[in-house]
Amino acid sequence: MTTHSQNVPNEPGPAGDSPARLTVLAGPTAVGKGTVAAEIRERFPDIWISVSATTRKPRPNEVHGVHYLFVSDAEFDRMIADGELLEWAVVHKAARYGTPKQPVLDKLAGGRPALLEIDLQGARQVRETMPEAQFVFLAPPSWDELVRRLVGRGTETQEERERRLETAVLELAAEKEFDVTIVNASVREAADQLVKLIRSPSISGKS
Ligand code: 5GP
Repeated sequence: MTTHSQNVPNEPGPAGDSPARLTVLAGPTAVGKGTVAAEIRERFPDIWISVSATTRKPRPNEVHGVHYLFVSDAEFDRMIADGELLEWAVVHKAARYGTPKQPVLDKLAGGRPALLEIDLQGARQVRETMPEAQFVFLAPPSWDELVRRLVGRGTETQEERERRLETAVLELAAEKEFDVTIVNASVREAADQLVKLIRSPSISGKS
């Protein structure tokens, strides 16, 4: 793990021993953000993970309300108009994704650490509106490994894969905008490192 601003504790701290903070996890397509988030959901249930709204269609095994809120374009328009989204973006020129704001604010107010797993455009928006959050970049061990993961996932068409790889080139260049980088070589270790950060009380210059 590379920390750009301070060292982090060695072990995940016990739940509830530090003030709740917002952590934003971003990184290139297919790096494994969703897999790391799923590992945290399973092993660290005290950490709340935001459920995004999206206009994309569910993949097999994806459950409404668990993986995403699958909504229509009209419903997404309404959420934007009513100011319900903390951030939103068109991702891979394909669909809209956004973070419902109120659940995030409620969890933080209730003292529960919150994690957003979102794309780079969304992370930049959150930095404008909630600069006190910490921003974590999940990086692949190498470019070749990133391509291998995207192809291996087998959920996208060839055209979609090419579009996502184009986006990934830009996303990798944004690493320096983040407070901390975690290299996702092992899902378990990446999740452990992220949990340490989520539970850490603060990083320099942030409360
Ligand atoms: P997928 O369609 O593979 O589940 O996700 C595609 C991309 O959308 C991923 O990079 C994921 O991080 C991003 N994403 C998921 N939820 C949100 C969200 O609420 N806001 C933004 N900006 N991006 C999101």
